[in-house]
Amino acid sequence: MPEFYLQIFADPILRGTIGFALGAVTGSFLNVCASRIPNGLSIIRPASRCPNCNDGIAWKNNIPIVSWLFLKGKSKCCDYRIPLRYFVLEFLTAVLFAFFFVSFGNINDYHYLLTSLIFIPIIMVVIVIDLETMTIPDRFSIGGAMVGLILSFLMPALHGFSNEPLFLERVSALLASLLGMLISSSILYWIGAIAERLMRREALGQGDVKLLGFVGAFCGWQGGLFVIFGGAIVGTVLLIPVMIISKFASRKDDSDHGNGIGLGMEVPFGPFLGIASIFYFLGLREFVEDWFETSFADFIVFFSGL
Ligand SMILES: [Zn+2]
Repeated sequence: MPEFYLQIFADPILRGTIGFALGAVTGSFLNVCASRIPNGLSIIRPASRCPNCNDGIAWKNNIPIVSWLFLKGKSKCCDYRIPLRYFVLEFLTAVLFAFFFVSFGNINDYHYLLTSLIFIPIIMVVIVIDLETMTIPDRFSIGGAMVGLILSFLMPALHGFSNEPLFLERVSALLASLLGMLISSSILYWIGAIAERLMRREALGQGDVKLLGFVGAFCGWQGGLFVIFGGAIVGTVLLIPVMIISKFASRKDDSDHGNGIGLGMEVPFGPFLGIASIFYFLGLREFVEDWFETSFADFIVFFSGL
């Protein structure tokens, strides 16, 4: 391992700073993706332009996080209000990257660092696009799942195998990833299908099912299962206050309650799944792995005792 690499990684503050800067730049790129991909535009050309007057944006007005704050959320050219999303996405990605650089600085954890740096940007851009357009582009869900399969073969430690894997361990990790993809999306598919029968309306989109395939390919079926239930919990926690407020704010229009959550608007499930998967990467992974391990041990002990 090169000397300078070890020096950088020995110091958590330096690591965190590098992670923060890298995350801010990544977040800035994600903003471009989230604005252009749903409209079928190239993410490479043209260079950044003001969406209002189409003027080019000077580099000093295009620095992640800093420029938005400095310009107070308005473009230099025509005072166009730059959506808060630009700032939030850059800042959150920066904070998450800093966290991953600090917590996975140990050289033995490099596979966690690398996979977090790949998984998190994809899930962040999916959350934004799903919130804004109610769709999840296949290139992120299906494409992301393919990336997860490949990474599992390259770094079997992702699925609990050793850091210096045998070929057989690589194949086993690839299988774990494939099973994670298939099992997670099937479970979500059937939950959605049953909910649809019970509630007589569309409960889940195909996009959510494919998104769970992406999560399962990275996190295995245990992680996928956690994200399904975690997503439901996150959704409940975030929606209950909104429902209560909207109930009090508009008692008169009981007639048109859209999809029944009392908002009169459709709510995408993808962002909740995304938030749950971020929590998984932020450290719930170990908890989930332990839980499944001990539960299965108890399960086997219970049945062998019968
Ligand atoms: Zn402008």
